[in-house]
Amino acid sequence: MTPEILPLLPRDDWQSQLRDAISTAEQLLAMLGLQPEDVGYSAAACADFGLKVPLAFARRMRAGDPHDPLLLQVLARGEELTETAGFSSDPLGEIGTANPVRGIIHKYHGRVLLILSGGCAVNCRYCFRRHFPYTDNRNSRREWREALGYIRRDAQISEVILSGGDPLLASDDYLDELVTQIAGIGHVRRLRIHTRLPVVIPDRVTTGLIEAITRQNLQTVTVIHSNHASEMDTSVDAALALMNRSGITLLNQSVLLAGVNDNIQALSNLSERLFSAGVLPYYLHLLDRVQGAAHFDVPEARARELHAAIRATLPGYLVPRLVREVAGAQSKVTVPG
Ligand SMILES: *Cc1c(COP(=O)(O)O)cnc(C)c1O
Ligand code: SF4
Repeated sequence: MTPEILPLLPRDDWQSQLRDAISTAEQLLAMLGLQPEDVGYSAAACADFGLKVPLAFARRMRAGDPHDPLLLQVLARGEELTETAGFSSDPLGEIGTANPVRGIIHKYHGRVLLILSGGCAVNCRYCFRRHFPYTDNRNSRREWREALGYIRRDAQISEVILSGGDPLLASDDYLDELVTQIAGIGHVRRLRIHTRLPVVIPDRVTTGLIEAITRQNLQTVTVIHSNHASEMDTSVDAALALMNRSGITLLNQSVLLAGVNDNIQALSNLSERLFSAGVLPYYLHLLDRVQGAAHFDVPEARARELHAAIRATLPGYLVPRLVREVAGAQSKVTVPG
């Protein structure tokens, strides 16, 4: 086919982009003109947490750069196989303990996480969810009823947070129905969505999605997840602008990752870039100490130093809160400056 007669991708082709995501290092490295040994790739590290990168995200990587900050987040490397003391498979103690009913995590006052799916559009190597015992199945109707019943019975819950995996992997119709049910619970005022999809596959942000999450009488907050300014491009800007115009409050959370964003320039650029897309920096997380991710760890002293440096140069509203999650704590714990 000549380029002129290539069919235009429809705006809502996010599902095919998901199906066609890169799933082998060979494919990813060939696209970037890199050799496996340039980047420390390990096939064994993929065995229980596969490689998965949608093309829309991979295209923002710099060809020929083994240190590309996007590549480092998704490439399985030999270091993942090193067992490190102090790193566990359930660092947050989420397996079992905080699940009052299936699909709900209720750790903090007034807000609950509703877990929609185990899958993500991208597999981030540092993620604590790499060991979480999810199934890829959406909650069944019966589980919905139980989860919604739990929320209904606790009048203190004013915010429902859709989480996962990535909740925006659910279809527009599924989300529409779920959000309608949530909105029907009188004491719930806010809907929050934690998702990496607007960054990873911006085409996920369809008008159908916006409709589904905003048409109820709930204030809607979306927390995106971007770790580096290079993850943002004009297609991400367009998706976020659509959300912004629809009255959705946009926040970002990042993870401080060695080799990816553990320097002043990267952190300041990220905050500036987010704001230019209408997003306020919310949290900068210290790494969850999950087995297989120790090579991303930034020592706390260094994290505080970096945070102090960005506080000294950026306006206050561009400085994310430096936090860590502590199993059993009442909220995310602020790391003192
Ligand atoms: C992070 C998190 C929340 C939300 O916390 P905020 O500080 O309100 O952003 C809620 N529940 C769980 C289990 C969480 O991990
Ligand atoms: S939960 Fe977020 S950080 Fe973890 S793999 Fe999914 S998209 Fe990546």
